[in-house]
Amino acid sequence: MKILVLNGGSSSQKSCLYELNNVLPDRPLQPLWEAQIDWTHQQGIAELKVKTAKDDRLEDEFASDSREDAISRMLESLWRGKTQTINDLKEIDIVGHRVVHGGEDYQQSTLISADVKQAIARLSVFAPVHNPVNLEGIEAIEKNLGNVPQVAVFDTAFHAQLPPAAFVYPGPYEWLENGIRRYGFHGISHQYCARRAADILGQDLADLRLISCHLGNGCSLAAIRGGWSVDTTMGFTPLEGLMMGSRSGSIDPGILIHLLKQSDLTAEKLDGILNRNSGLKGISGVSSDLRQIGDAIVQGNQRAQLALDIYIHRLRAGIGAMLASLGGLDALIFTAGVGENSALVRAAACEAFGFIGLKLDGEKNQQSPLDRDIAAVDSAVRILVIHTQEDWEIARECWKLYH
Ligand code: ADP
Repeated sequence: MKILVLNGGSSSQKSCLYELNNVLPDRPLQPLWEAQIDWTHQQGIAELKVKTAKDDRLEDEFASDSREDAISRMLESLWRGKTQTINDLKEIDIVGHRVVHGGEDYQQSTLISADVKQAIARLSVFAPVHNPVNLEGIEAIEKNLGNVPQVAVFDTAFHAQLPPAAFVYPGPYEWLENGIRRYGFHGISHQYCARRAADILGQDLADLRLISCHLGNGCSLAAIRGGWSVDTTMGFTPLEGLMMGSRSGSIDPGILIHLLKQSDLTAEKLDGILNRNSGLKGISGVSSDLRQIGDAIVQGNQRAQLALDIYIHRLRAGIGAMLASLGGLDALIFTAGVGENSALVRAAACEAFGFIGLKLDGEKNQQSPLDRDIAAVDSAVRILVIHTQEDWEIARECWKLYH
């Protein structure tokens, strides 16, 4: 069974092709073909990179504003040229899409119909950057592959079991009636990491209490019990919670009232400040990339040091909150760009939790081993670094719907 996965971001589009047979493997398979389009470097120019399992590679650049056209071009590299992997797009059995917002209606992966498309469009008011992009991906596949079954895998679904105390905001009750509640995000990644953690530990996921720290450009934590998220730091939007690359995370809402009263700030400007010019970038003035913050700290940049200090302070506070929601902890998981690569962030986060018997093995931590336990032998809590594989998780969800 050939499964194509599409994962669309605000200015990127990733895709990969997996081949699965009748038995679902425990561990991720290598994709037969993977491609990525990046629009970030030059206005109106798409940069395409393709790689196959045989290590054939393609790099191309073309003028494009339309995601649909760019996806068509990307799909061409599947069936012709030096990265050709299949003879015809008709060989693809099913297409899975990461869809950021499924609202309250979609609590599990769902076969896409006209109704589901309408719902994804309707939920764009809650996820204005992502849902429209996801919809364009679905339509591009309709154009290129006709009636192939398509599946929406929602980033919010893993958090569908949050208890009301965790998902209802203590504003007026009407907020809840109007869909203003915590949804949580990064669910596909948290779900993959939870299962992989159980696999690494050789235990049943249902018996584990886990905290998953997804630390990438966007950052969120999930408290996981019985295989489901029971608390998470992101909320109504992916802006709440931890300090992130360029997002503020949680701040006193009184600051927003103050700013709106004192100046000519519009909603657009506030959006720009909080989503694109805050976090590590806003405080350091250097970059949203932790590697550059690290370099600036070495050169004595005090604002970069402050940015890192706040990041760690808030990460520890978030882990503490998740710990309280779980009432205990079997394993702490680090994943995504920062979580997988920054020994410093992992060590600083763990240092605060020595009092629960959590103890890092400093040497293992420095080696940044992926999919390994980096806790000291006598630690009361396991500490895992897991390479997140959202695309594999999406392929798995597609497979499960058809078996
Ligand atoms: P996204 O959330 O966009 O999927 P990633 O999970 O790829 O992002 O994480 C990107 C971030 O990971 C970068 O901004 C960078 O700060 C961080 N990162 C990547 N490699 C390292 C590293 N070696 N050390 C510290 N941070 C890193």
